Amino acid sequence: TRQVIMALAGNPNAGKTTLFNQLTGARQHVGNYPGITVDHKEGLLEHQGTRITITDLPGTYSMTAYSAEELVARDYLISNRPEVVINIVDASNLERNLYLTCQFLELGVPLVIALNMVDVARDRGIEIKADKLADLLGVPVVPIIARSGFGKDKLIDEALAVAARKQSWQPRDISYGDDLDAAIAALVPKIEATHFVDGLYPPRYIALKYLENDEQILAKGKDTDPATAAELEAIVNSVCEHTTKTLDVYPEAIIADHRYGFIKSIIRQGVVTHKFDTDRLY
Ligand code: GDP
Ligand code: MG
Repeated sequence: TRQVIMALAGNPNAGKTTLFNQLTGARQHVGNYPGITVDHKEGLLEHQGTRITITDLPGTYSMTAYSAEELVARDYLISNRPEVVINIVDASNLERNLYLTCQFLELGVPLVIALNMVDVARDRGIEIKADKLADLLGVPVVPIIARSGFGKDKLIDEALAVAARKQSWQPRDISYGDDLDAAIAALVPKIEATHFVDGLYPPRYIALKYLENDEQILAKGKDTDPATAAELEAIVNSVCEHTTKTLDVYPEAIIADHRYGFIKSIIRQGVVTHKFDTDRLY
């Protein structure tokens, strides 16, 4: 039988545990990641003759080294390279949830979006055009209600289809404005030239992490190639000096702003419609 490895990722409270339980029932194993108290949960699922192992990653808002959860989620993705990542997104809180999605796109992981809590969104008069969202993001989007199990078979079908394509990681480029785009253009060739850090992260992703001042990536860089690390840090310091002087912000704030801009531009293209519930008004 075919064996497929999937990971489940999303913001805290997006419904990850509920979906994980729906999919794997009692066939779960809970442990800890070595040396830390973050849960490591794995479950099994049979779907039309395919054996699927699903790892429930810790809930995170971002993929930078700000917390143990974020590090665990990122390290898992980078070192285990699951064949597909199911990104569970809360439909009633779309903009905020897509911030993490945006980072998965930049990392280039094979992705399927589980658009969860469509019942909650509908009750609030929010309708999301899943096909339109899928087109604009370039990844499949499947509406689900994790609590009832609605949509879960279609979700697994789509996830298996993505896994079957065996695509290499294709990082999506988002523009970060003239200053940072120029810095990224200077950083990337240096990173590419040396298989910097460990050759597992897309070069553009490492460049972004340098601009975001990501402690883990900076430390790995210093460890593996101190000469290149010093060159990268010099570029980052000079752009940092420039943005703090001219705009009074650090590059990481500019990066966050542009990610939200990218998400907003997608949502505004007819992805979300709000309906007034006239019954409720009168
Ligand atoms: P996690 O933090 O991502 O693991 O989220 P949970 O699975 O714990 O879900 C958070 C809350 O949302 C719980 O109270 C769930 O019962 C609820 N929930 C999850 N999925 C749905 C859904 O599709 N519809 C509704 N109405 N509630 C949901
Ligand atoms: Mg949970």
